Amino acid sequence: MKKPSLLTQVLVAFVVAVALGLIFGDKMSVVQPLGDLFLRLIKFIMAPLILTTLIVGVTSLQDTKQLFSMGGRTIVFYLFTTLIAVTIGIVYAVILSPGTGANVSLQQGATAPSGEAPTLTETLLNMIPENPFAALMEGNILQIIFMAIAIGLGILFVGEPAKPIQKLFESFSTVMFKITSGIMVIAPIGIFGMVAPIIGEYGLAVLAPLAKVIIAVALGCLTQLLVVYSLAVKGFAGMSPLTFLKGIAPAGLVAFSTASSGATLPVSMKNVQENLGVSKETASFVLPLGATMNMDGSAIYQGVAALFIAQFYGIDLGMSEILLIMFTTTIASIGTAGVPGAGMIMLTMVLAAVNLPVEGIALIAAIDRILDMFRTSVNIVGDAAASVVVDSYEKKSKEKANQQAS
Ligand code: ASP
Repeated sequence: MKKPSLLTQVLVAFVVAVALGLIFGDKMSVVQPLGDLFLRLIKFIMAPLILTTLIVGVTSLQDTKQLFSMGGRTIVFYLFTTLIAVTIGIVYAVILSPGTGANVSLQQGATAPSGEAPTLTETLLNMIPENPFAALMEGNILQIIFMAIAIGLGILFVGEPAKPIQKLFESFSTVMFKITSGIMVIAPIGIFGMVAPIIGEYGLAVLAPLAKVIIAVALGCLTQLLVVYSLAVKGFAGMSPLTFLKGIAPAGLVAFSTASSGATLPVSMKNVQENLGVSKETASFVLPLGATMNMDGSAIYQGVAALFIAQFYGIDLGMSEILLIMFTTTIASIGTAGVPGAGMIMLTMVLAAVNLPVEGIALIAAIDRILDMFRTSVNIVGDAAASVVVDSYEKKSKEKANQQAS
């Protein structure tokens, strides 16, 4: 018999957890250790995963001149659309307010931001670790990000002599991904262990906000597809949004069903070249980079999720915390791997950075696969939009160079 897909397993685990929670109530707290096990595993992988994937993300930029110019345009487009994406996510989370009124007290181990919030200058200065090893040991996420970017840039600028260490980090990150996939295998059990005690304790009322989370993420994804990318391909490359969306639809659907940008990459490579007229050179630079670095759908999701969790625990977020969420989400989406569930793991980084209870992902985890399908489609379509825009600029500059030469 074929093994059921992760989606089926997670949905079954979820339904069983809800049913047993309703039947047995408080007694379901006996399965809490299964949820804790999953959470601990996620926390265990967090620091090394972020460190290595970010270093690999930065070093995947090549250093030849042409790639620098293409890389520059690509990265500007990626950062810009990601910032728009997280803003859209936050706006929908504020409008729909999925976590408000859930009335759940702060769980054990969760911490609410306390005392004076640090100023922006302090926050920025604190990003620089005085001792990189201490940053790793303490799991200080912002400091780990700083370290990863610094090491990545160092490797890029040193070039050839730094190849061995680049290879080392690449292989380290492959190992971390393998472990992540291993952790994902027990996701259904973990979800069962997290959801059953919650439903047992609070009843079905706790689930209502989740429907709103799905709606907020879905609306955010639609806005990004129909407004942001459509305007981008039309405005920067003169392509009709309909042609664009139709041309990339097959890849979008593969992304929706696999929830993996990596697995969808071959299809999107084919789609942009055959349906959207993007050159092979541009496609093979922009798309693989995007599949590892550009995750607009994940950014929408992380924005919605962070606000949902804050609302859920009744934590008020100020403007500086919202800005920090936008900033860390942008970084997190760069570090998010193109595999199912990666966005949820990177969400812990966003939560940790703004001092929101990491335990909050317990609820989000239950519906993560559904959200993952939406966000992965947007991730892939966003990369394709970048390839169309960057390609049109490349073609224009080539034409200009040819005219000057003749
Ligand atoms: N599954 C997503 C992707 O492959 C990443 C995520 O989990 O957000 O693009």
